[in-house]
Amino acid sequence: MSSSFKEDSISLASNKEKPKSANPSAAPPEDDSETRLSIWEKLTPTQFEAVESLAQDYRHFLTKAKTERAVVAQLLAWAQAAGFEDLAQAGPARQGGYLTHHGKLLGLFKPGKAQGAKPSFNLVVAHADSPRLDLKPRCLYEESDLGLLKSNLYGGLKKFQWLARPLALWGFVALKDGRQIDVRFGEEPGDPVLTITDILPHLDSKVQRDKKLIDAFPAEKLNVLAVSKPEGSIKDKNRLKKALKDILLKRWGLTEDDLISSELELVPAGPAREVGLDASLIGGYGQDDRVSVFVGVKALLEAQNPEKPLLLIIFDREEIGSYGATGAESNFVTRLAAAALNKSGFEADWLTVTEALAASQAISADVEAALDPTFKDVHDELNCARLGFGPCLVRYTGGAGKYGASEARAEYMAHVRGIFDSNDIIWQSSLLGKQEYGGGGTVALSLAFHGLSVVDCGAPILSMHSPFEISSKADIWMTRNALGAFYTKA
Ligand code: MN
Ligand code: MN
Repeated sequence: MSSSFKEDSISLASNKEKPKSANPSAAPPEDDSETRLSIWEKLTPTQFEAVESLAQDYRHFLTKAKTERAVVAQLLAWAQAAGFEDLAQAGPARQGGYLTHHGKLLGLFKPGKAQGAKPSFNLVVAHADSPRLDLKPRCLYEESDLGLLKSNLYGGLKKFQWLARPLALWGFVALKDGRQIDVRFGEEPGDPVLTITDILPHLDSKVQRDKKLIDAFPAEKLNVLAVSKPEGSIKDKNRLKKALKDILLKRWGLTEDDLISSELELVPAGPAREVGLDASLIGGYGQDDRVSVFVGVKALLEAQNPEKPLLLIIFDREEIGSYGATGAESNFVTRLAAAALNKSGFEADWLTVTEALAASQAISADVEAALDPTFKDVHDELNCARLGFGPCLVRYTGGAGKYGASEARAEYMAHVRGIFDSNDIIWQSSLLGKQEYGGGGTVALSLAFHGLSVVDCGAPILSMHSPFEISSKADIWMTRNALGAFYTKA
């Protein structure tokens, strides 16, 4: 059942034009009809059921975990239920262990069977943060008899996609006395929601239509409509702001100043959905990169008797450059490796930890842009990802001449594709898009700092970074299988 898009690429090229350096003695390209079958066409009835079952679990996970903290809390609950222990505490971690940092960064460790004199890990990393709008520290104001909230961009989103749609507010407020007040507004069916207004088409010519896209939607105009009923006596001023403050106090016991120490995130309201007349797809917010988070933790928890010790790290702050105490540029990889070695009976000194990391193998599990039939011209069709054709092995990301790419070594690419091929993984080789059209990066670059072998691999998705990203149920299942094979066979 093994197939790779690399083979497909050769077939495609041979159909359209003869490769210039064709070797006449080389074997003819494989039959296109065979190599271009998607996962759907190769599933047995039992596998089909497994695909559906995993997709339903995933859909519920997406609906329940819309912030990086909610993702970490859910994964921690699963790990604890599987018997994982806190690596920061003394004592054994026979089933496995976890390490968290600031509630937004999570590492999991599963011990390996054979631990030689020179330890190393099989490591998968993904990120839990997604593009969104945060509330500014001072965000309450009134204008034209309405009460509004000021938002701040987080990550690379297309601003117009966030207007005129239902939004929910997730997060918490930290109080000076140490208490935390959880906020979740607009998520349950029947709850009121929040929204950002847009201008009607009848009047948009000067402010939007005649402008460049980037200028037509200034970030400072992404103001959230929050109240419209004034509070207090008609002689009072600022009655809409007063209404906002009253609700804060009555509903959550908060003052305006308390919002200065809050993490409140505006996310698309409502559940993830099945998509398509055939219900073969999943649509929802935050699939970049929660699809990798979900299949990564499944693969780690399900891995039976792995030879090598396994690590999974769920980073925060990837969408804004991986900087900060909970990003991939922090020292968390080293801390987790040291804690894991310690639990495995090693002296976790600097040399042991750095050598173990340098000898480790990693997959940076992040989503890839799938070929969109409506916007085909941004992709190099020989090297693009297709929905339903499995996880994408991405040798390098970056832009402008591989700038910012860690780039996997050819030997490591060979090693990983060998593991996939010998474990019935349907996968594809892809690159993000055409050169000089833009670019992107992943945490692979930060991991490569440790000298380990790393390659990007993840499910292809459509409408990346939008409020409603699209993935294929078949790809979700196959990506879980691919990470499972990497964990236990690499
Ligand atoms: Mn992203
Ligand atoms: Mn990502």
